[in-house]
Amino acid sequence: MKASLVLDKNSLSYWLRQIRKESNLIAPMRSVNGDIVFESVDQIHEVVLDYPLPPPPVKEFISPQMEGMFEYKRDNISDLRDRQKRVVFGARSCDISAMNITDKFFGGETEPSYDKRHPNKKFKDSYYFSRRQNIVFISLGCNNPAPTCFCQSLGTGPFLDKGFDIQLVDLADRYFVETGSNEGEKLINKHRHLFTEAQKQDYDDRYEAFLSSVSKFEKRVNLEEIRQMIIDGKVPEALWEWVAERCFECGGCVYECPVCTCFNIVDCPHSKDTGKRFKIWDTCFFKGFTQTAGGNIPAEKKVLRTKRWWFHKVLYDLEQFTSFGCVGCGRCTITCPGRIDIATVSEKIKRWR
Ligand code: SF4
Ligand code: SF4
Repeated sequence: MKASLVLDKNSLSYWLRQIRKESNLIAPMRSVNGDIVFESVDQIHEVVLDYPLPPPPVKEFISPQMEGMFEYKRDNISDLRDRQKRVVFGARSCDISAMNITDKFFGGETEPSYDKRHPNKKFKDSYYFSRRQNIVFISLGCNNPAPTCFCQSLGTGPFLDKGFDIQLVDLADRYFVETGSNEGEKLINKHRHLFTEAQKQDYDDRYEAFLSSVSKFEKRVNLEEIRQMIIDGKVPEALWEWVAERCFECGGCVYECPVCTCFNIVDCPHSKDTGKRFKIWDTCFFKGFTQTAGGNIPAEKKVLRTKRWWFHKVLYDLEQFTSFGCVGCGRCTITCPGRIDIATVSEKIKRWR
């Protein structure tokens, strides 16, 4: 399945143009207010390749902020599952790594049940997978990580060895192109004449680009050390109180995090007999996230919600999905108004006295 090829940069526009004829091509574009966001591409020359900071994650295209599930009219239910063919160009390694974790979450992979009478049932979210199975990612390795990035600390970037559909690495005048899935290979094979087999010089240049990228990381975050400190009881309650005091409960960290998956289901009746059901993003930082039907809120205190997010990221996700709930994209560092992002708090935990 894995092939290593080379694409001349002069052929990129033509390739993207051909892809756009068959699918909805999504790529980083400059929005009207100047931000870089992933959007459907109308003009290929407007695709932005060298954005300095990570734009909002691409999770929007597999698990949208607000997704219609079905519409009902008295005796009739219309399924609103999205099966549009999409190709996302320019996602970064951290986003691809994050999606490999969310695939496990929405695919129902949880920790094994220790009670054999009640084995865990796998629940697969068909809304997530109807989008996921119709999307191919052409990701870009990061030659110039932002000062907030720390994916190399977690093995989720700057370049990936597996888990991608197609990965491009910028070698100045050409791209080193790797396929990592059948879907990726199919997309390449449709325009195979644009690609040549990678030669020794291309492999050497890719390795050089990797070393250069790794040398540019300013942040290092050792989540394994933090995990061990929590398990050993070396993180006092006062630290979590300190974090909670600084949290505005805005939810930005969860919405921007490519690994966070909190969601809710809401019904919007239009009339007595008609209405629509939606799946929407939610955040475990909000008080009502775990509110029960009787009105009880198990995590009413902010400190409990803060700890829960942290414990998920550092302890529970590792147990359930064999990876931390963080891929080091640094988006929470950019987003959090309270400056209690995962990198900053990790440092605080180590220096707490
Ligand atoms: S916790 Fe922060 S750094 Fe980690 S993946 Fe989420 S947004 Fe990125
Ligand atoms: S972004 Fe910061 S302030 Fe907002 S909910 Fe997350 S931790 Fe709290």
